[in-house]
Amino acid sequence: MTSGKLSIVATPIGNLEDITLRALRTLKDCDVIYAEDTRVISKLLARYEIEKPLQRLDAATETKKADKILTRLEAGEHAVFVSDAGTPGVSDPGARLVASIHRQSPDTKIEAIPGPSALTTALSIAGMDATGFTFLGFLPHKKGRQTALKKIASGELPTVLYESPHRILKLLEELEAFELTRVTIARELTKVHEEVISGSVQDVQKHFEMHKDAVRGEFVVIVEP
Ligand code: SAM
Repeated sequence: MTSGKLSIVATPIGNLEDITLRALRTLKDCDVIYAEDTRVISKLLARYEIEKPLQRLDAATETKKADKILTRLEAGEHAVFVSDAGTPGVSDPGARLVASIHRQSPDTKIEAIPGPSALTTALSIAGMDATGFTFLGFLPHKKGRQTALKKIASGELPTVLYESPHRILKLLEELEAFELTRVTIARELTKVHEEVISGSVQDVQKHFEMHKDAVRGEFVVIVEP
């Protein structure tokens, strides 16, 4: 039985004001913060004048470092994990850390400090009923991509995807092959250049042709079959 605690804390997806009071209190009160990238979290901590010991824990070291965290928790410490943006475990590290602690020490307290995610933020302004949807995160780049696209286009529910600026035009080209009701692109959510573009695949492509600047930043894509 460990007396310590692990908090999985959601952080902003752009606007540094999008952080809950509970997240800030947790970051202030904990003994150590494990972060996907310590430079990214440092900006948030500086904004709120929080100084804490910082350790890196990324996708490559997640399982290995779980043992170190467990040792700390057994010593009664309070550890926090944050990914670079949004909710840990959602297309981000965190899940393997949590699973590893659960497996090795089922009684250890692991708490969620909820907050933003690009997924829910996009859905909240997409103007569609998100009672049911499929979330696939990033599509595979090569193997399995065509099969995934076909499933998305023939499915009954809207699918939410994450996409990088390098691949957004390619994804739209690929989607042209299917009959879709609507595609929505939510770009740069919570940031200065936040925008939502919605329409047929061709409408969205036209927008990007006319606004070359818009092929930058971070994207959530919602495909309605
Ligand atoms: N854990 C994060 C979450 O809860 O949303 C997702 C992390 S994933 C590595 C990063 C991807 O999320 C980006 O490539 C983009 O597709 C999406 N994303 C993150 N921030 C975003 C933003 N401000 N606007 C639009 N999409 C964003």
